[in-house]
Amino acid sequence: MTGQSACAYCGLSLVDTYEHWLLMPVDHVVPRGVAIRLGVVATHYEDAINLVLCRAGCNGFDNRFHHETPSQPDWPLEAFLELRDRIFAARRKRIETRRALEATLFASRPWETGGPAPLAGVDDGGNQAPLVAGAAAPASSPSARRISPE
Ligand SMILES: [Zn+2]
Repeated sequence: MTGQSACAYCGLSLVDTYEHWLLMPVDHVVPRGVAIRLGVVATHYEDAINLVLCRAGCNGFDNRFHHETPSQPDWPLEAFLELRDRIFAARRKRIETRRALEATLFASRPWETGGPAPLAGVDDGGNQAPLVAGAAAPASSPSARRISPE
């Protein structure tokens, strides 16, 4: 495999517990959708050079990533690697920001207080990924009410 034992984005161990090991997706640094839109060949974006291991949370924090690079007719390997490195740096920063916001939500223990603390900095316009599985859904949402065992 890759020899990686820590999340590519946050550096936390993927192998310290069995539960963490189970939550270890393979992530495309240049997401498939972005690569296809930019005209990158699959032999680049499906290759190990574009794959990292990460925690499921970090993967989910950034699953609506968009990139403004214009498409081009050809992506020589060097150009693709440069694109990959730019996207990796951008995604790592976005994940770090989202992770801090989620940590604030977690610290408010919304499952005990009946509602989430507002996530400062996260607009409701859909620019951020939804909360990852396991995070509390807003108590006011219909789906949260439906599954509530009251
Ligand atoms: Zn991570």
